[in-house]
Amino acid sequence: MDTLNDLNLLFLRNLQTKYISTVYDLWFRDLVLVEMDDSHAVFSINSDFKRGVLEKKYSTVLHDAMEEVIGFPIEVTVVSNEQVEDPVDRILRQKREEEEKQAELAANAPPVQSEDEKFKQAIEGHSLVEEYTFGNFVVGESNKFAHAACWAVAACPSLGPSTGTRYSNAGEAGPDEPIFTYNPLFIHGPSGLGKTHLLYAITNEIKKKKSNVKIVYKKCEDFTNEMIGAIKSGTMSAFREKYRSSDVLLIDDIQFIAGKEATQEEFFHTFTALYESEKQIILTSDRPPKDINPLEDRLRTRFEWGLIADIQPPSEELRAAIIRQKAESMHVTVPEDAIAFLTESLQKDIRQIEGAIKKIAAISSITSTPISLDMCRRAIGDIVSGEEPAPVTVDRILKVVSEKFGVSCADIKGRKRSENIANARHMCVYLIRQLTSMSLMDIGAVFGRDHTTTINSIRKIEADKGNGNMDTLINELTEKIKA
Ligand code: ADP
Ligand code: MG
Repeated sequence: MDTLNDLNLLFLRNLQTKYISTVYDLWFRDLVLVEMDDSHAVFSINSDFKRGVLEKKYSTVLHDAMEEVIGFPIEVTVVSNEQVEDPVDRILRQKREEEEKQAELAANAPPVQSEDEKFKQAIEGHSLVEEYTFGNFVVGESNKFAHAACWAVAACPSLGPSTGTRYSNAGEAGPDEPIFTYNPLFIHGPSGLGKTHLLYAITNEIKKKKSNVKIVYKKCEDFTNEMIGAIKSGTMSAFREKYRSSDVLLIDDIQFIAGKEATQEEFFHTFTALYESEKQIILTSDRPPKDINPLEDRLRTRFEWGLIADIQPPSEELRAAIIRQKAESMHVTVPEDAIAFLTESLQKDIRQIEGAIKKIAAISSITSTPISLDMCRRAIGDIVSGEEPAPVTVDRILKVVSEKFGVSCADIKGRKRSENIANARHMCVYLIRQLTSMSLMDIGAVFGRDHTTTINSIRKIEADKGNGNMDTLINELTEKIKA
């Protein structure tokens, strides 16, 4: 909520600078930002009359003020919360009559969707989902628990007590084996480690076995956007029906529900309806339920009701296996030394590994050259350059300075006093002080001297600063050390 409050404040300040206080106090002062995502902002105001005026006379003003605050255009809606606590509840109520009418119409209307169409709707906008299967998900220590849990759910989703649609994964679980269901299944782990891949794999697996199961996959943010759209267009009943009639509901990146009160309220009811009819719910998040904040307690506890499985960053072994698998799937041959180099260099996540292999495969194909270690080095330069720089070490400083001054590291650390060696030593001391957090005493210890010698070295270099040559030298060495 803090972000909303902060934005609310900036928004009001923006308007305050544009209008005299009587106008500001009358129309804008009571605007409360209650919900926001990257395309909509919903404000509430304490009177229906004010809402009407804001909508008719000031909608461009509100829109522009919001754009000035956040830096991009966004749709602004004002709802009135006259006599009610939650403004979003208020519009929900206002729309109820319409919804009821629609529900009645829908109940009397002939069925409009075939099962096939239902499935298409379930995975709307995700034409690539079929690429992601259990077959091409590489399993290692770090993801095997999440993988096993997803596989179990795909093999045996909870599809309701009376639907008769429960099935076991024939051949893997015998008829006498108990069928376990994990509901909800909550998968969490940092970005790029395969959570969405697993959700798609579940979708594909269930679809393969039973095409009439209604699967709904949604990113949490899209759920919110769709809900806001439904509120505005008065189609909440269709929205609810869509989610509450699903057999398997998969919500990706549920952490985005944090702080969105109206979405939490709506999702709570969706969750409860599905859970009570024993329908399968699968959620992913970049963090465990306890770290999603602010989140209503009743949702947090529900997220923890079933099975929670985490995915950890991949080990070296898993990274190498994934590199091999991705190369194979792209029909390219990567020599062993290049695989070792990529395994060592690409530690961030699996999305990064995939990007690198795609790039290398493209270079190889465009230049008609087989993939080599050298090609990989050049190709991934820009991919890994955005990484955190390696911390500056004393050894690194000594090495760079020794190369520049043409003296050995042993001499720099030793007792020799020839001019070149002494200058190199002063420079090392100065750079260690500048580029690390070491104390004067600790720096002295590197050179077998006390802190007063360290101070002298630093003074000597500083005395020459401001002179172009010295400044250029310091810059050049610093750049090399940090490279
Ligand atoms: P997340 O949803 O956790 O951010 P994704 O599922 O989008 O991550 O994964 C990022 C990319 O890495 C996807 O293209 C996915 O196919 C791939 N990937 C992740 N984990 C694996 C794995 N274990 N085996 C093969 N590919 C993987
Ligand atoms: Mg994802």
